[in-house]
Amino acid sequence: MNSSDPQRDEVAGVEASEIDALAARVMGPVVTSGDERYDAERAGYQTTRSHRPDIVVGATGPADVRAAVAFASDHGLPVAVQGTGHQLSAVASEGGVLINTSRMTGVRVNAEAGTAWLAAGTRWDQVIHEAAPAGLAPLSGSLPTLGAVSYTLGGGLGLLSRRYGYAADHVRSLDVVTADGQLRHVTEDSDPDLFWALRGGRDNFGVVTGMEIDLMPITTLYGGGLFFPGESAAEVFETYLQWTATVPDEMSSSVALISFPNVPALPEPLRGRHVVHLRIAYAADTLGASERLVAPLRALHPMIDTLREMSYPESVTIYNDPVAPGTFEAGTAMMGELDAIAVRAILDLAGPHVPVPHIVELRHLGGRLAHPPAVGNAVGNRDARFLFNVASRLERADITDVRPAHKKMFEAIAPWSTGGRFLNFMNGESDSEQVRSAYDPKDYQRLTELKAVYDPANTFRSNHNIPPAVS
Ligand SMILES: Cc1cc2nc3c(=O)[nH]c(=O)nc-3n(C[C@H](O)[C@H](O)[C@H](O)COP(=O)(O)OP(=O)(O)OC[C@H]3O[C@@H](n4cnc5c(N)ncnc54)[C@H](O)[C@@H]3O)c2cc1C
Repeated sequence: MNSSDPQRDEVAGVEASEIDALAARVMGPVVTSGDERYDAERAGYQTTRSHRPDIVVGATGPADVRAAVAFASDHGLPVAVQGTGHQLSAVASEGGVLINTSRMTGVRVNAEAGTAWLAAGTRWDQVIHEAAPAGLAPLSGSLPTLGAVSYTLGGGLGLLSRRYGYAADHVRSLDVVTADGQLRHVTEDSDPDLFWALRGGRDNFGVVTGMEIDLMPITTLYGGGLFFPGESAAEVFETYLQWTATVPDEMSSSVALISFPNVPALPEPLRGRHVVHLRIAYAADTLGASERLVAPLRALHPMIDTLREMSYPESVTIYNDPVAPGTFEAGTAMMGELDAIAVRAILDLAGPHVPVPHIVELRHLGGRLAHPPAVGNAVGNRDARFLFNVASRLERADITDVRPAHKKMFEAIAPWSTGGRFLNFMNGESDSEQVRSAYDPKDYQRLTELKAVYDPANTFRSNHNIPPAVS
């Protein structure tokens, strides 16, 4: 027990002396709800929901994670994990032990092998910064402050994804603490089943304390954004959809209709307006074709055009996702081919005339994402052509208005949806049908069978849960 730890009471039927014994075994803080550090230990990017665990362990390394998992298993308590808190699910808020990995940061780049080892709580901006001097880049996503390990375990759809596939397709090894409290170094050769399940099954099989990933030989790309007035949304979305059918795999892109707040921090043309934001990341070996490729989009006369050659570290500006924590409600659906009627269905429910401000986004899939990786994993829905996301900031709208508005939107787009979902964008509570939809049916069955082997008591259930198969 640290000298700063207060007197504790029994929690969740666990004697205070046992919690003190856990605190004595771990280097980081062990905090219960009466402790003034409790709120800071469970705080994350997403402020709509927060974990309300019985006990938080602020892990400093694998030994702390082992102690926390073993303690939870011994007492029959569920384990939740939090890195940077970008995707808290509501079920995670109910009791148990929360392992906060935010202190476990660290990156080791192996320039010769073209790989990096990342600790559990490492953010993408750290990896990008460490990899760039070696002429390498990770398969990072739209927001550089995302937790790299959790993002990768959940699939990882990044700026270079149509060229290289999901981030989960480029994991070489994982260090994971499983429900029995063991720390395992997992590779394709050592534990093929667990290696398969963790890459896509994420937090259902253990707490990953570190992973080795491939880096890509990318120093420069052509990218940025084109901004159009919301009034031209239908034309821009339709042209964008036609354009995606013509581009090479090196071109990754998305389009969003965004309702911007009227705040001085934004450039004047965006303040308080509905705006179409088209995002481009073209990463080919030579960038000579860039301008020609984007010409059909530029022909739509954007009011702001930031497309240019940039270094990979500068690519963190392409999406301009908000870095500051906030409260939002979001949903996701995998889509098949889309046409003008689909665009109309989306825009009818998202435009300036609707009372609830939304961000609606289509990310172009296909390319390498559509192919199975060299070493198979559990990431599903590879046949989808687009990913649809909707998010609404709850600072600007009431949850009781947002939820029915999102529901209506998903009903409207249902004819074009594959029925699948992308795990990384599944926010809030999920039922078993929703979790199932993140995987291909045979893979889901295999995941439940492996869950019965590696976590038969479902200790890792404070998540989008895959239950153990019943034999
Ligand atoms: C603004 C924004 C932009 C985003 N952009 C992208 C994008 O471009 N591409 C994309 O693929 N995703 C994107 N995401 C989704 C993001 O990748 C996921 O939310 C990811 O899980 C975030 O990880 P985190 O550590 O930041 O979040 P956390 O909320 O801390 O963790 C999310 C989940 O991962 C699990 N987890 C965390 N750490 C571990 C661990 N060490 N071992 C096992 N499980 C763990 C937790 O149980 C939790 O359920 C975005 C999210 C936001 C909010």
